[in-house]
Amino acid sequence: MEILDLTAVELGERIRKREVSAAEAVEAVYDAFRERNRNLNAYAAFEIDPARTAAQAAQTLLDGGGASALAGVPVGVKDNISVKNCLTTCASRILQGYRAPFDATAVRKLRGAGAVPAGTLNMDEFAMGSTSETSCYGAVRNPWNVGHVPGGSSGGAAAAVAARECFCALGSDTGGSVRQPASYCGVTGFKPSYGRVSRYGLVAYGSSLDQIGPIARDVRDCAALMDVIAGADPFDATSRTFPDAGFLDALNGDIRGLRVGVPEECFGDGAEEDVKACVQEFLDELRRAGAELVSISLPFVRYAVPTYYILATAEASSNLSRFDGVKYGYRTEHYHTLEELYVRTRSEGFGKEVQKRILLGTFVLSSGYYDAYYNKALKMKQLIVDGFAEAFGRCDVMALPVSPTTAPKLGESLSDPLKMYLSDVFTVPANLAGLPGLSVPCGFDRNGLPVGAQLLGAVGADALVLNAGHAYQLATDWHTRKPEICRPPLGGDVAERQRGEAVENA
Ligand code: GLN
Repeated sequence: MEILDLTAVELGERIRKREVSAAEAVEAVYDAFRERNRNLNAYAAFEIDPARTAAQAAQTLLDGGGASALAGVPVGVKDNISVKNCLTTCASRILQGYRAPFDATAVRKLRGAGAVPAGTLNMDEFAMGSTSETSCYGAVRNPWNVGHVPGGSSGGAAAAVAARECFCALGSDTGGSVRQPASYCGVTGFKPSYGRVSRYGLVAYGSSLDQIGPIARDVRDCAALMDVIAGADPFDATSRTFPDAGFLDALNGDIRGLRVGVPEECFGDGAEEDVKACVQEFLDELRRAGAELVSISLPFVRYAVPTYYILATAEASSNLSRFDGVKYGYRTEHYHTLEELYVRTRSEGFGKEVQKRILLGTFVLSSGYYDAYYNKALKMKQLIVDGFAEAFGRCDVMALPVSPTTAPKLGESLSDPLKMYLSDVFTVPANLAGLPGLSVPCGFDRNGLPVGAQLLGAVGADALVLNAGHAYQLATDWHTRKPEICRPPLGGDVAERQRGEAVENA
């Protein structure tokens, strides 16, 4: 068995037994990157020297008896999470060449547990998107079919985990960016309750919505990563420690009597038949494991997308004002005045989607429209929070699709951005209400593309959600499926054939 077929927790066990060294693990990931990145473009960069140094530090910790579950395990990091002295560019020209002068808290905690930050994962520019096509490094491909997108914005993380180009990864989720790419790539992704993981060192998109979350092959790996990265941090005033602890320990797989709410709005015309059928099977499996299905209604769900795109863009317009050509990264070569420096730098440095969102966000915050848009969206957000609180009176967790469709073809989404925004309908509600959300693979559509099911919990019920997902994975094997592109030696022939088919079908 190739070492990259191991889950992160399995690798951790082998490392503790001295069957594999931290250095061997990091070299395996680096080899996969060098040999195969051209197939999927999942990595934005891979700086091997700092990864080797981190592996050495991990081995020293291990040799001294430091035995956390992930000690010695390489973890890929999305390109918007700061890793000290490494490129952290948000897949944007405006941050080209920028190296973070410090570690994000989540990364610092990884190192503390002996895990090894290794490789920078490709993404949508500034995490704005659902397809990982807006990156300045070029589009990421879906490992199940390279003619399709991997989802986004953490598409590089999901693709790399699915294609066995890394063991597990940290992504970020503002409106679904961990859960949706996990679903499109057939892997497991978890967005924690808002505040559960420090945002310090995560380049801000929509600060009231952003959370760092794990993308991995199964729930156990996600729980192991959560055990390391969760907790209050003095550098992020919105972070907190919730009373429960020990996510891995909480995975007993027992969901007898668990009340699973099934929101009727999420199984209507809005979702593809194959998606609904797979998620229905997912529900049946939970019932067989002892859960009780309860029909519920979330009538506010149809307002979630407009509410989200007003709040997220408003916050983005403010957060991205710091990229002005003075303090970070790219600066235009053609300017005479200060204003020209700002305008040209931002026009040349930001891509189209990011510029569109800055304009939209600036508009909804402008004095004449603030009440009509921004304030109204804030009120709607509160109604969504209240609506979920009420619904969680009748159930313990909720189950729904992650996305109404499976992965679209490359190029298809950006040509119809409104449709792309609307496809976030099942993921953005959790961000607006700060809920924990898990995406688990639950089957394939008729074209062989993965389908994901989503579990949501009340704020703080992260362990309950993870355990429900774990119970499902104990009973099924969708999370163990492996795309054909992983076939040795390089998967290049598979990529070549699928590219040809994509052109033929276009
Ligand atoms: N697709 C959503 C957006 O474009 C979510 C992105 C995210 O979660 N970062 O904003």
